[in-house]
Amino acid sequence: MKRIYLDHAATTPVDPRVLAKMLPYFTEVFANPSSAHAFGQEAKKAVEDARACIAAVINAHPDEIVFTSGGSESNNFAVKGIAQSLFKKGNHIITSSIEHHSVLETCKFLEHHGFEVTYLPVDSSGMVDPFDVEKALTSKTILISIMHANNEIGTIQPIEQIGAIALGHGICFHTDSVQTLGYLRTDVQNVKATLMSAAAHKFYGPKGVGMLYVREGTALSPLIHGGDQERHRRGSTLNVPGIIGMAAALELASTTMNEEWTRLIALRDELVQGIISTIPESRLNGHPVHRLPHNVHVSFRGLEGSSLLIDLDARGITCSTGAACTTAHVEPSHVLTAIGLSEDLAHGSLRFSLGRSTTKEDIDRVLEVLPPLVHRVRSLAPSFSRSKVFVRKASYAPTPGDGLKVDKQ
Ligand SMILES: *Cc1c(COP(=O)(O)O)cnc(C)c1O
Repeated sequence: MKRIYLDHAATTPVDPRVLAKMLPYFTEVFANPSSAHAFGQEAKKAVEDARACIAAVINAHPDEIVFTSGGSESNNFAVKGIAQSLFKKGNHIITSSIEHHSVLETCKFLEHHGFEVTYLPVDSSGMVDPFDVEKALTSKTILISIMHANNEIGTIQPIEQIGAIALGHGICFHTDSVQTLGYLRTDVQNVKATLMSAAAHKFYGPKGVGMLYVREGTALSPLIHGGDQERHRRGSTLNVPGIIGMAAALELASTTMNEEWTRLIALRDELVQGIISTIPESRLNGHPVHRLPHNVHVSFRGLEGSSLLIDLDARGITCSTGAACTTAHVEPSHVLTAIGLSEDLAHGSLRFSLGRSTTKEDIDRVLEVLPPLVHRVRSLAPSFSRSKVFVRKASYAPTPGDGLKVDKQ
């Protein structure tokens, strides 16, 4: 059975071209880049080339890139680093209620240490209103942290507007770009970002390596104290193969970005329309237009997303109920609660995230398997009887465009 992997928002495979570039740095150029000998300097040169390559893609200076162990570390580093270095200036942080746990849990941690956090609401499509950001500002605000795009429902935030507000008030702006780097052109100058997080494994690079863009002149306390690596901003021996892999993956993603964007959007929309037009009582979550090109997050009334996921898995289709780290939770995700989805719909949610390997045949296969599966599961569920399906079906005549309308919950 061919497996169809539709969970690229959780992680992507390492592209073989990326792996080929990484391999020599495990066995041949293995020296510590902090070592003064020629062997070490060879590794250092490769790291600095990778840094310059990554900086160029986001329109930053190479010195503004700090390598980390991934998205979660970058987010912790950004939020705790600003909190610690600016606590004398103020103790207020503004974020949104749909951030990744690595931002939200860091903010909750800081609340136990004297900080005040405003968790901005989002509308039913998952959008933060820049006007709300402006209204939440106080004389004590030191940081605004709003993600570029949401990992569950795919909504892309108006970060240029939010960055401009932050800049206008002289406040640091951090954006978690883990879902967008490699998919969307991101220019830290346009965004007016002070800090920006990314992780290589979300764009066909290796796991366990990421970066934080830190605008020149930003006072940021280190998260990992140690040696003088990364200009004293992060101790620990550099992950040379990982860094090489991240740069190679980003370069590859950048050169194919435009075609991949168009290709993914076509496949994404085909999947959305196919689902909405054939499955009664289904809906697309997240913003209909301002959304990631590879994200399809849908809800089906009257069933459990987690059991549907297992049924699909048994048929070779790999997807997710949302965030990888919340699969064990019974509570609906914080993102779905924040967009006002009813508990019933939230529990009946699935995320399909497309990627480089996804073909039209894959989408066709999902559309062949999913509708009868949903129908069968519903007909077996006592809470969603056959007659109910029938009655609802009759009063609900979906058209292909329907799925792209965000109905107010
Ligand atoms: C995956 C993800 C993270 C965490 O990145 P890790 O490298 O797994 O630590 C953070 N934010 C978003 C939006 C993500 O999608």
